This record gives sequence, C-alpha cells and structure tokens, in this order.
Amino acid sequence: MTQVLNRNVLVLNKHWMAIHVCSVKRAVTLLYQDLARVVTDDYEVIDFNSWRDMSRFADGDVIHTPSYPLLVPEVILLRRCNKLPKHYVKFNRRNIYQRDNFTCQYCGSVLPRYELTIDHVVPRSRGGRSTWANVVLACIQCNAIKGDQLPSECSMHIIRKPREPHWSMLMYRPLLEEEHTLWRKFIDVAYWNVTLEE
Ligand SMILES: [Zn+2]
Repeated sequence: MTQVLNRNVLVLNKHWMAIHVCSVKRAVTLLYQDLARVVTDDYEVIDFNSWRDMSRFADGDVIHTPSYPLLVPEVILLRRCNKLPKHYVKFNRRNIYQRDNFTCQYCGSVLPRYELTIDHVVPRSRGGRSTWANVVLACIQCNAIKGDQLPSECSMHIIRKPREPHWSMLMYRPLLEEEHTLWRKFIDVAYWNVTLEE
C-alpha cells in the first residue's frame, strides 16, 4: 500500500504539457480537492467522483480508502496552472551528473561516470561549500591539475557557470525509467515544450 502511494504520477498542466511528477498520494489529494482530473488512456478527463465510480469495476492497481477502492491514476491534469506544487531539484550526485551532462566542465570531455569527479570550484579547504553554484563535474586529469586552487589561479575556465538546474532539465530521464505506457504519450511533447531557464 505504501509502495503504491509513493508511485509516480505524471502531472500535466491545463495545456496538457507534462510539467511535473508527483506521488500517487499527492495526486489523489489533488483529485479529491478537485484541483486535478484523471487522464485515461483514451485522453478522457475524469473527475474524482467518476473516477471513484469507475474504480469499482475496472482492473488495475487500487488503493483502499476506508470506504472505497480507488484506481491508481497514472496521469493527472491540473485544472489551474498556479496550483503547482513547488518543486526543487535535489542536490545529489545523480542530478549533478545530469546537470553537467557527463561533461568535464573544464576541458569539455564527455566521459563515463567513473571517469568524472565532482569538483568544488572554490575548494572545500578554502571554505567552498557543497552547493549547486560551487560544484561542477571534472575529469580526473582536470581535477588533479586544479587541486586546491581556484580556477583563476591555474588558468582554468568553467564552460558553464554552475547553478541550480531547472527541474524540467532533469525530468526526461526519470520518465524514461518508468514503465508507464500512458506517460509516453506525453513525454515527447514534454521534452520539446518544457521551458528551460535561459
Ligand atoms: Zn577535464
């Protein structure tokens, strides 16, 4: 049950653009509050009450509320854009690798994960912190050359100024890892339409 509640649901904005991924739990809350509707395989848009009625007869994974079973939605459509849950990108290794696209930010080499390291632009030994704005991917060679220096001290240049990535830059990969066939109908659209910062 808990596992099902934490499963991912694709969230579309009112223009049918995939903009977010949320948990089943969150999706059901949005549906219940009538802030979102379920999107079916046939692109039908169903409100909470109809979905609850459909859930009695349909096959599929259900969650059990105290009074009725409820089919697990795969895709929901928000009724208003401004009701988006706030999203931020987790600061973790996986997302740093994705943000920098497996590319050494000093020499531009595109390398497999194990040949890249996470470099602190201002070294930790000099007070540099682990934040989006202070870490970049560096190949082992560049990392060794740079050592405990600032880029300017060893004439190295950062290809792209590090910053917190927009979540939409990172959403494509998790979507592909999911085996939701319904999602795929919206993924290409999402990939081409998401607004990237800058
Ligand atoms: Zn390099």
